[in-house]
Amino acid sequence: MTEISGTTSITGIIGYPLTYTLSPYMHNAAFKELDLDYKYLPFVVEERQLGAAIGGIKALGISGINVTMPHKENVIPFLDELSSEARRMGAVNTIENDSGRLIGHNTDGIGFLKSLEDQLYSVVDRNVVVIGAGGAAKAVAFAVADAGAESLTIVARNKSKADALKDKIYAYSHNLSVKTLSITDDLADIMLVGELIVNATPIGMKESGYLLPVPLDLINERHIIFDLIYTPLETAFVKEASKRKAKAINGLGMLLHQATAAFEIWTGISAPVETMRKALLDVLESGDQSRYAKQKSR
Ligand code: NAP
Repeated sequence: MTEISGTTSITGIIGYPLTYTLSPYMHNAAFKELDLDYKYLPFVVEERQLGAAIGGIKALGISGINVTMPHKENVIPFLDELSSEARRMGAVNTIENDSGRLIGHNTDGIGFLKSLEDQLYSVVDRNVVVIGAGGAAKAVAFAVADAGAESLTIVARNKSKADALKDKIYAYSHNLSVKTLSITDDLADIMLVGELIVNATPIGMKESGYLLPVPLDLINERHIIFDLIYTPLETAFVKEASKRKAKAINGLGMLLHQATAAFEIWTGISAPVETMRKALLDVLESGDQSRYAKQKSR
């Protein structure tokens, strides 16, 4: 189904400035693959228009919306209901329009876990180290707590943010031991215990150069290195960890699976994962995303 008809269901993404979204490629490829009468569109929404835009979801009968920066938290007061994940994270990345009732979800945590599963890993009984204490770190930390990790250490440049995240986790679960460290502390002991090491900072993104979130000599073949970054696909962390015989995973799978989870919330149908993965890889490899970004920022 490629045409828009009188019955086409509309989905999409709101954000500002919405320059780097890959979601339209994944979702439209999935709708096409399954011959579903759906389309996914980008909506550039400024902060002052957020309430009106959310009202528009109801008024226009839009089926589902992804939410990205800077609206993930500010969107909450405009919604009717939150999933348990979205409530405890205080952030929404997916809105479901259930017959006029807007339900906020957060699929980043499940995206992280499914991506690990794809690589045949689980967090059960593992000692996990998360570097960063922002939105993505929060999603990973709660997912790790839910999924039965042995311990979690949050390492942040601002230790008070790591402590605040630890308190939030303890408010929901006392089942795992949570520690916090500053990124400038000696990380040798924690890297010795740590098995799954997650970079949830932008250190290593194209703009930040060839930098590592932890000292190179602390990485070894016992580690599973998970860098949430997907541009570039191979960060310095992924590259150097592979050289040191650690298992290294990039952020592409998490990006893919937060989208497959949103797709399933909106349609009730299993997502065509491989079609969506291919759409993502194709656009990243072709550079189309930068053309898209230029169009949107005009
Ligand atoms: P965020 O909310 O802005 O949080 C970023 C975190 O990194 C904060 O704790 C920040 O510390 C810390 N940080 C930033 N620069 C740093 C530096 N130079 N040294 C040490 N710490 C630094 O961002 P986010 O949404 O969590 O995203 C974090 C990363 O994950 C980004 O690279 C993003 O692309 C990636 N991500 C990937 C996926 C995926 O699906 N694969 C999903 C979400 C995010 P302060 O609080 O002190 O600023």
